Amino acid sequence: MERIMEIKGSCLCGAVAFVIAGTPKSMGSCHCSRCRKLGTSTVVFVGRDQFRLTRGREMIETIAPPPGSTYMRSFCKGCGTSLGEPLSPDEAFPINAQCLDGDPGLRISYHEFTSDAPAWAPAGQTGAK
Ligand SMILES: [Zn+2]
Ligand SMILES: [Zn+2]
Repeated sequence: MERIMEIKGSCLCGAVAFVIAGTPKSMGSCHCSRCRKLGTSTVVFVGRDQFRLTRGREMIETIAPPPGSTYMRSFCKGCGTSLGEPLSPDEAFPINAQCLDGDPGLRISYHEFTSDAPAWAPAGQTGAK
């Protein structure tokens, strides 16, 4: 019998809150400059059926993707915390791992755009040996 755990998350000011039922599908880090500057370098991908916004939908502002990119990004209007894509219409979407309050039960399994990582990034995340 498997117990489904719930992981809670929120923005810094607490206006936006959500729960993830069970373990997210994946966790990864993107080192491109856009993800870094938005503060969403490390995300968990969650399925639509396991993600529930519990508070603050009206506080979420969404930034349209620039030409050539597909990812929308959202943040809290109250505190600026980057949230990932909690309003995505997709079946699975990224949520900023920094917003999680509990241990999601999985670890970073991939790194993207490591060649774009800054020189000060830890070895192993820069693409350098
Ligand atoms: Zn907030
Ligand atoms: Zn990126």
